[in-house]
Amino acid sequence: RAKASGGDHICLYDKAMDDTARMQRRLVDDMRQAIARNELELHYQVQIRLPAEEAVSYEALVRWRHPERGLVPPNDFIPLAEQSGLIVKLGEWVLRTACAEAAAWPSQLPVSVNLSPLQLVAPNFVAKLKSILEITGMDPKRLELEVTESCFIADGAKAGAVLHAVKQLGVSISMDDFGAGYSSLAMLNSFPFDKIKLDRSLIEDLNSSEKSKGIVRAILSLGTALDVPVIAEGVETIEQLNYLCAEGCVLIQGYYYGRPERHLATRGLLTDDETAQPEGEVTPPNLT
Ligand code: C2E
Ligand code: MG
Ligand code: MG
Ligand code: MG
Repeated sequence: RAKASGGDHICLYDKAMDDTARMQRRLVDDMRQAIARNELELHYQVQIRLPAEEAVSYEALVRWRHPERGLVPPNDFIPLAEQSGLIVKLGEWVLRTACAEAAAWPSQLPVSVNLSPLQLVAPNFVAKLKSILEITGMDPKRLELEVTESCFIADGAKAGAVLHAVKQLGVSISMDDFGAGYSSLAMLNSFPFDKIKLDRSLIEDLNSSEKSKGIVRAILSLGTALDVPVIAEGVETIEQLNYLCAEGCVLIQGYYYGRPERHLATRGLLTDDETAQPEGEVTPPNLT
């Protein structure tokens, strides 16, 4: 039958397309149920301030506790959630859960939550955020929202307007993944970000590339010039830490100080005087 229709090549191709579409539809259905069944959970990664190495904030990162597949990382389902529009519901779950959990932390440190572009332009985003803050009793001053440059690509004016309204509530806004993709100086100029997050790819290359060192140094001095704090993400080694420290970067996030952990939210570890400890046997950084 394949021959009759002009060769099985085309036929196989069509079938493959069909399978992919069916698989994706199934995954979206599974995700929708995952939200209803409470299979999603938030892990929190500490952000540190040098030189005291004190915890200053925690970033919420979503995971899917899948009944068969185990703990699924966000990169395996967030893109499809964005493509299908389900991210609006999923993102609402993340916001509500992060606010409810952080409101109960003894430390009262800020929490940061990642936002997708679609969430920002969804109808009533600001009203929803406001009601989440009210219902959970979360202090808006303790909430930071992380956006990437992709938020400004489709409709930059609309995104800017929504973010301004969000800031009116007392919530702060961070520019995530700066130095990757198309993140531009114009974007920094067009919106008053409260924090700039240096992309992990730049930090990763610090060891091997003089160019990356230069770019990191330039972004740090940009932060100083604009009076916007800069945090380095993805810091794993003492060498990276020493370079950043020497260049005046005092805010650090990365495996060197801690991975995203569920227990930070549940075991009451977030006490007032908590100072984060490096995992395992790590030599304290040379902070001179
Ligand atoms: P992101 O917001 O840039 O988050 C940082 C990612 O880098 C996290 O990956 C974190 O676990 C990882 N990371 C932190 N320090 C290190 C390090 O020292 N080394 C290495 N190799 N990785 C490090 P994760 O949790 O897999 O999240 C990936 C991305 O998924 C996030 O990137 C964010 O864009 C997205 N994402 C996560 N949670 C949410 C969410 O609730 N909503 C939305 N819209 N996106 C989310
Ligand atoms: Mg982030
Ligand atoms: Mg990032
Ligand atoms: Mg990212």
